[in-house]
Amino acid sequence: MRIMIDGHKVSTNIRTSKELLLMIKDLSRTFQWKTRYNPSEEIVHIMTPNMPELTTLPIPVTEPISQRLDGKIICLDAGHGGTDNGSRGPSGTYEKEHTLAIALCLRDILEENGASVVMTRSSDMLPTAADSITDDTARISIATEAGADVLLSLHADGFYPRQSSRSTVYFYRDEAESLAHCLAASLGDELLSSASSHRFGSFPLIRYAPMLSVWVDIASLSAPEEELFLSSRDGRAKIATALYQGITQFFRV
Ligand SMILES: [Zn+2]
Repeated sequence: MRIMIDGHKVSTNIRTSKELLLMIKDLSRTFQWKTRYNPSEEIVHIMTPNMPELTTLPIPVTEPISQRLDGKIICLDAGHGGTDNGSRGPSGTYEKEHTLAIALCLRDILEENGASVVMTRSSDMLPTAADSITDDTARISIATEAGADVLLSLHADGFYPRQSSRSTVYFYRDEAESLAHCLAASLGDELLSSASSHRFGSFPLIRYAPMLSVWVDIASLSAPEEELFLSSRDGRAKIATALYQGITQFFRV
């Protein structure tokens, strides 16, 4: 992992770990640094109050407005990316665009509430990690390296036609059932859909990830009205808010 302070590179060769990320976060509070971790490049950016041009920050920084999720490390996995488009909606939008937009929106909300967020990707690319053969193993490896407490993999799979589809949250291990339940209930409330449910699913990503992990199938991209909802700013914000509520309910904070 590399560390950049005010845009200057610090020579280190440390492995990313939960302890390290939490320590940097603690130091940031003491010294009023702004920090952001970019997992795809394994760089922690630290901006001190002395940094002259705050408008030229290498990456946007979100100020916490609450400490509800303090100490929690959450890995957001925007499904698909790069050459893998995922499913395609009737008007030609791709699942990979929607999952990324929602993940970025959710990241901001989580960070505003004190969580440390690790993204498996923050642009249109397939996640990669050293020694990872597939993008699934890279996604798991990024979450594991960061010591994530939970891993949320976001999807809008349109492959199976569903009636009044909306959201299904899948869990593989029993321990993740309660997280899946909270997320499904919150999506149901927020999106006014009674069709939200949680159930067992054996997607390799949630099967092999060592931390609590769920696969969130937000909506069916093959339904025109759902594609419209997923494409809208308002829809994305509503989905991200619902996921945030579900996470806070799970952690009881
Ligand atoms: Zn998908």
